[in-house]
Amino acid sequence: MTRRVFQDVAYEPPTYAVRVLQVLEGAGYEAWIVGGWVRDALLGAPCHDVDITTSALWQDGARVLREAGLKVHETGTAHGTITVVSDGHAVEITTYRVEGAYTDHRHPDAVEFVRNVQDDLARRDFTINAMAYHPTRGLLDPYDGRGDLVRGVVRAVGDPRERFAEDALRVLRAVRFACRMGFEVEEETHRALVEMAPGLEDIAQERIGQEMSGILQSGRIGWALMHETDVICAAIPEISDMRGFDQLSSWHAYDVLEHTAHVCNAIEAFTAGVASLRLRWAALLHDIGKPATLSIDEHGVGHFYGHPVLGAIMAERIMKRLGLPGDMVRGSRALVHYHDHIIRPTQRSMRRTLSILEEAFPGKAMPLAHELMDLKRADAVSKVPKCAWYAVELDEMDRILTAEERRGTTIRVSDLAIGGNDVIEILGIEPGPMVGMVLSQLLQAVIDGEIENTRDDLITEVMRSALEIG
Ligand code: ATP
Ligand code: MG
Repeated sequence: MTRRVFQDVAYEPPTYAVRVLQVLEGAGYEAWIVGGWVRDALLGAPCHDVDITTSALWQDGARVLREAGLKVHETGTAHGTITVVSDGHAVEITTYRVEGAYTDHRHPDAVEFVRNVQDDLARRDFTINAMAYHPTRGLLDPYDGRGDLVRGVVRAVGDPRERFAEDALRVLRAVRFACRMGFEVEEETHRALVEMAPGLEDIAQERIGQEMSGILQSGRIGWALMHETDVICAAIPEISDMRGFDQLSSWHAYDVLEHTAHVCNAIEAFTAGVASLRLRWAALLHDIGKPATLSIDEHGVGHFYGHPVLGAIMAERIMKRLGLPGDMVRGSRALVHYHDHIIRPTQRSMRRTLSILEEAFPGKAMPLAHELMDLKRADAVSKVPKCAWYAVELDEMDRILTAEERRGTTIRVSDLAIGGNDVIEILGIEPGPMVGMVLSQLLQAVIDGEIENTRDDLITEVMRSALEIG
């Protein structure tokens, strides 16, 4: 596919970055803008953080920048990196360097500073990331990164197998860049990905989590699941059990992995690409419990009883292992847990669902309920055509949910129109557990639609129950 890529950068570098280049070059060093900014400027994409690469050793760079009155932070000096603040913007500056051997597939044993920008570009991961730009010297593009932007491919610099062997995180970076830019992975690089993906075993789980979140945020995890399956399975080994897993059911046109890819794609379509990360994680993991819960009945039909509950446990375990934030894990876990929960298109059923979600994640019932609707709808349209009617029923549930939200729903004791003090006064009792019990019963009655959440109705109900109790 040919895409719109500019001959030269579509806009000039910001003046705060040019100032840094000028300070370094005024002191006799060479400096270039490198990496993401150059890539995005050729695409005319929104301006990116600026990274600079320079011939100055970090101590020298820091000295001349400080002399010019700029604030410098020594953020990664072991690798030759400092961060300078120019006009309120942070700019990372790294000394031209090459990397020594990677005996652990993670960190170079040593970095060596070099004199030549070409050598520095050679150590970078992908051709589209190995370009440098200078306002007067122009574009430096020794690996035809610009051509790869036009072709829409991610291609490793040099021998892809060697590059992935050096640093296995690049395996996931390749997929993340392909996803983010809507690119394919170039063929030889792709073959190397398949071969080298197991190297992800050596990578810290948190870094895998960050890259996976980046992939999910691109909205193209569905593509990655189908086209870079080995990489995703190496990143999250539990996913490999979904691969080729036949559901043995007339309700399912796809194996579990392919179904999951369809669900992830449908989530993007239904949310116009602005789904929360926790919903995207939930979509990816919603059926992770299926392979372990398969049972086959006397007609040879597959069932997956309990898969949402097991899936929720597994999703939590996976996401925690990947170092994802606790709140996100909690939300995704709840969505996986309730993705098959039956909701009827009635106010009562919706309130019950809301109160279950509230229990799973206090304070988040309403946004989670909307996300649950999206997940259920995506799930329904990714089975077989005969399931699609359910999406229509979900529209009705959505209307009820929205009405609840507008009106202010009643799912917590604190939503009730009376409080503990009212109960104490009406019943003439002391503060204690009894008060909470009465309030919980009132809440249940409101959720079930037996009484209205008005002061009058609630007070009447408390008095009535007092008579009943005696
Ligand atoms: P973004 O920050 O938008 O994800 P970026 O291109 O700026 O994209 P960074 O991870 O910030 O990516 O890295 C900056 C540059 O450093 C990259 O463009 C690439 O040239 C180089 N780089 C980063 N990580 C690696 C790596 N693991 N192996 C080789 N080169 C790398
Ligand atoms: Mg960056």
